Amino acid sequence: MRCILCNMPLFLSHHGICSQCIKNLPTQNKVCPQCGLPHSLSTPICYRCREQKPSWDELIAVSNYIHPLKKLIHHLKFYHKIELTHALARLMLLAWYKRRVTNGISKPDLITCVPLHHIRYWSRGFNQAEQLAKPIAKWLNRMFYPHLLQRKQIASDQKSLSLEKRVQNVEKLFSCYHHLSNRSILLIDDIVTTGNTINAISQQLKRCGATNVQVLCLCRTVL
Ligand SMILES: [Zn+2]
Ligand SMILES: [Zn+2]
Repeated sequence: MRCILCNMPLFLSHHGICSQCIKNLPTQNKVCPQCGLPHSLSTPICYRCREQKPSWDELIAVSNYIHPLKKLIHHLKFYHKIELTHALARLMLLAWYKRRVTNGISKPDLITCVPLHHIRYWSRGFNQAEQLAKPIAKWLNRMFYPHLLQRKQIASDQKSLSLEKRVQNVEKLFSCYHHLSNRSILLIDDIVTTGNTINAISQQLKRCGATNVQVLCLCRTVL
């Protein structure tokens, strides 16, 4: 097996990406630990989070939405290759451990993922967030609950709506019917863009009793 990025033979084939390419991946310097957006680090969290606190507590991303992860995510969505999924999940786990070392975050009690609407699931055949979450749950030795949340309607015509309307729609999109008292949760997604989706999900998880929500994603889009 060869490295997905540079095509060099791999020493550990199940890793998918060689150590040199991992070293060369763009890293996120100086980001707010809560929202994952650029921040001077002069205060613990950025001014955006201080002004309007997100419902989640911590956001960890491997990189911004740029090359080469952008290309790899595209591959992940359209060609369902298990070795690529594992390689990307491994990068996420490494990013999580790095944050654990720097910020002392604790291991979550359980793991879930952003659900895909069933029509999209049916047309694509899989949920990429679920595929990434599965190995991460195994490596962290935690239970994975892919169906903790239900997604109600397809968010397809969102682009034509005003920002306010979009946020309102997203807030009504998810529901959770589980008792999560005193549970800390790790929520997995592939890309976080506006943060509206993970915010709506985190609101629901906390409404059900969750004490802490960590979000782990491959890419955080810098707005
Ligand atoms: Zn390589
Ligand atoms: Zn922030």
